[in-house]
Amino acid sequence: MNLTAPATPEPGTRGRRGTRIALAGNPNTGKTSLFNRLTGSNARVGNYAGVTVEREIGVWKLGERQVEVMDVPGAYSLAARSAEEQVAIRSVFGLDPGEPRPALVVVVIDATQLVRNLYFAMQLIEAQVPVVLALNLIDVARAQGTAPAPQRVEDVLGVPVVAVSASTGEGLAALGKAVERVLTKPDAGRSGVAWRYPHALNKDVEKLAAMVEAWSPEEAKALGRWALLSVDVEDELVDIPGPVRKAVLDIRASADSAGRDIDAELIGTRYAWLDAQDFGIRGTAKLGLTERIDRWLLHPLWGGLTFLFTMGVLFQALFAWSDPAITLIETLFGWLGRTVHDSLPPGILADFLVDGVINGAGSVIVFLPQIMLLFFLLGFLEDSGYMARVAFLVDRLMKSLGLHGRAFVPMLSGYACAVPAIMATRTLERQRDRLLTMMVVPLMSCSARLPVYTLIISALYPPSAKILGLPAPGFMMVFMYVFSTGMALTAAAVLGRTLLKGPKVPLLLELPPYRMPRLATVVRQMWMRAKTFLTEAGTTILACTVVLWALLAFPRDPALSHDYAADRAAITSNESERLSGVTSSGSNESERLITVTSEEEALAAVDAAETAERLQASYGGQLGKLVEPLIAPLGFDWKIGVGLVGAFAAREVFVSTMGVVYGIGAEEDEQSQPLRERIRGEKRADGSPVYTPLVGLSLMVFFALSAQCMSTLAVVRRESRSWKWPLFLFTYMTTLAWVASFVVYQGGKLLGL
Ligand code: GDP
Ligand code: MG
Repeated sequence: MNLTAPATPEPGTRGRRGTRIALAGNPNTGKTSLFNRLTGSNARVGNYAGVTVEREIGVWKLGERQVEVMDVPGAYSLAARSAEEQVAIRSVFGLDPGEPRPALVVVVIDATQLVRNLYFAMQLIEAQVPVVLALNLIDVARAQGTAPAPQRVEDVLGVPVVAVSASTGEGLAALGKAVERVLTKPDAGRSGVAWRYPHALNKDVEKLAAMVEAWSPEEAKALGRWALLSVDVEDELVDIPGPVRKAVLDIRASADSAGRDIDAELIGTRYAWLDAQDFGIRGTAKLGLTERIDRWLLHPLWGGLTFLFTMGVLFQALFAWSDPAITLIETLFGWLGRTVHDSLPPGILADFLVDGVINGAGSVIVFLPQIMLLFFLLGFLEDSGYMARVAFLVDRLMKSLGLHGRAFVPMLSGYACAVPAIMATRTLERQRDRLLTMMVVPLMSCSARLPVYTLIISALYPPSAKILGLPAPGFMMVFMYVFSTGMALTAAAVLGRTLLKGPKVPLLLELPPYRMPRLATVVRQMWMRAKTFLTEAGTTILACTVVLWALLAFPRDPALSHDYAADRAAITSNESERLSGVTSSGSNESERLITVTSEEEALAAVDAAETAERLQASYGGQLGKLVEPLIAPLGFDWKIGVGLVGAFAAREVFVSTMGVVYGIGAEEDEQSQPLRERIRGEKRADGSPVYTPLVGLSLMVFFALSAQCMSTLAVVRRESRSWKWPLFLFTYMTTLAWVASFVVYQGGKLLGL
């Protein structure tokens, strides 16, 4: 943010729909639930994949007034460490251009974690932002016997405090009154209460405050303290003006040499003050259900086993349960394609609609079952509170690879599709962790690679063959998954120690209490993510499929070696001659049927030959020829080159492109017998087979490692807000893929395979 910008608008600036207020606080305190209650809007609830990282705005009818309410992402403090915290700061101070500054902030506090949650409120109070504290989850706190007394909290902090429950609706009227009071008289939401920082720190803060000219003196001090914490903890907040950053680093250096610990002075002072207060909490929490469950679920052995079991079910679901829906979608689009094809005159329009648009839409929608299922199950685990335990359990393993514990879920999601997985990296606090995860997630074996593996394996590895005593097809499939996972983890270890080196930070994990997941929330969340996938990735995939179609369909009238129409005419006329002969001679019915079938076959063969030749002449075919020298050392010919070009739209497009290349119509899927057979029978000019198991392996390795996915690159570009990272991703993955395939193919040949 630009601290030296012209003064921000005065508090209480009106938004489009009236005065704006913000709901802010730690994650998981019920901000979104409260927001939904107040505005009646259907904003998304839940914190997992950064669903609230975008601000949500609704209208609260407050007596006579209409108040704009903004749901701010959860933040533990106003130090700008995570994306959420940065958004939170901007929202609370109204720093985004064109955004009104909130007239007040309702700090939503989890009443069961009062002291910890008040830290955030203290920072706002320091900044003289008018606040109202909502002690949410008061129902839970009471049930635990740890409910604070709102009046006590109000006396201590000097700002309005209301006990509420977003679940039951308790206290909402009182909250409305408190908000109206502060809206009318902002000073009612400010407090003169002060905690004493060490003298040396105050001097440092004053130095910084002087540099932050555009702010009122009070705020400048708060922002000075804020900058003091933010710059050191994570040096990534690009908006901190250079001079301020430099001043902070100087101050820290001299504090260090004087043996002072600035963090301890700042954070310690606040917590020491909080700890010394009496908030009227009587009684200590009984060992609740959550603690008792956690004894098992965080147990080194039982916890680990439960975790493995859960992940096993998740995987099984992803691959087995989604299958009927996928088949249904494929059937439906196949039918739609045929219907449109049959009801339009043949020509470019029909081709465009069927092969470009319908095919493209189908290849997007076919992802939905897995994506929805994945996010449904993850949402369920998350809403129940189990996901936080998973992060806790895998943190050690992940950290040894340089990854953050919370990167586990994005990595896991990568098995379904890299696009939502990359979106899920938003939960990570630091830019470095987000980038590292984004750079390795595309190496996980996403579901779009599955059809490619299936095609190659079923064509080249007969079930009767054995590898290490196991049936070859199953072995190869498992091998590909193990291989890609291993490569992803290795890449993380390497990138994390080189390009994306960063200090290891302890996992500050909130272990939320277990709660019964609510179906409505989970379904809503799943739907939001599916929608994001459709709009973010789906449109790219669709566009690419259309471009790809054009590449393969143009030029429309290439010079062909052969007059196929004449061939067809010859077959048809031969047949009618023969048929008339047959009829006159009164020959039997069965012979007639046989000839008709062979006529169809002959016609189909001509069609196939024509399609294949047209494809070879198309721009896509030419591109395949162009890349042939590059991929020949990997054992690939130009036809595979066309497939690779096609696969760049989306990997699974490889299968249908190969179908076209081999001239058997685009309606191919990995199960189709003829395509498999064509692949098996394909010969080079010297008569040797194009496809050997070695070429198959080389091809699968290439697919496992290459960045063959437009959508992934598009999402990385969006999430990293730069072209640098998608470019890097593409370059390093393609290089890796090429080298690995080269090693496999050339090494295999040396071994005589
Ligand atoms: P946010 O992260 O602050 O937006 O929190 P959410 O609104 O997503 O709520 C987190 C969880 O707390 C959800 O499972 C809510 O149903 C639950 N929750 C929120 N407010 C209350 C409350 O007052 N009482 C109870 N029992 N649960 C609540
Ligand atoms: Mg929320």
